[in-house]
Amino acid sequence: MTEVEEQPPPVMAALRRAVEKLCAGRSDVSVKHNFVDEPGSYGWNTILSPVGRGSGVWFWFDGFDDDLMLMINDEYYFEWLDLTDEAAVVADVLGICAAVMAGNLSIRREGRWRHLDLWATNGRCWTGRGGRDSLLPWKRSVPDGGLPGYGQVSEAVESVCRVCGYDEGEDRWTGPDGAQYIICSCCGAESGVNDLNLGWVRECRAKWHADGCRWFSPDERPEGWRPEPQAANIPPEWR
Ligand SMILES: [Zn+2]
Repeated sequence: MTEVEEQPPPVMAALRRAVEKLCAGRSDVSVKHNFVDEPGSYGWNTILSPVGRGSGVWFWFDGFDDDLMLMINDEYYFEWLDLTDEAAVVADVLGICAAVMAGNLSIRREGRWRHLDLWATNGRCWTGRGGRDSLLPWKRSVPDGGLPGYGQVSEAVESVCRVCGYDEGEDRWTGPDGAQYIICSCCGAESGVNDLNLGWVRECRAKWHADGCRWFSPDERPEGWRPEPQAANIPPEWR
């Protein structure tokens, strides 16, 4: 972030006004606008963060490419490469924001990926790509700690390994009884088998540590990976 805020392009200025209006008087959501001018990153973003639980919405006008991207819950993203029809873009983005805030969405699994289906208030239906690939281009720009989840998305889905904290973008649990029997690429623990209670989780973790934190799928181990930073992702109730 820089000290001096440059004026956003007209479409982003219109989006900011529209989102402010959408969230006016709501105590459950906060709206923040930022201007970013850093090496490799130049543009304007707006972040809708729910107060308490909830998936956030984050959209970004890229000043290098003059395009717009929107991300929901730190994972599902949409993009607009052509922004000439400003009114249509504003209606789309606003419709998506309103739908997320209303919980008007669902998660669908396709193989190892998950997708988000969303019914926007302007009548359009959207499908967001999810999963590991789509996360990568965004990792750099997401605020520290990511965006909190909102409604269905975060309450229904648990993708972080309870044993080691690795998140490969797969639903390990889709609710308290929704084990998906996913084997962790990192520690090898299987959801619904090795992580059913805290005692088992800790035992499994201790064995994995004793074994040198070896990856179950060594090909997927990122270069320079360390177990300690990843452990910070383990939900507090599973530590
Ligand atoms: Zn794991």
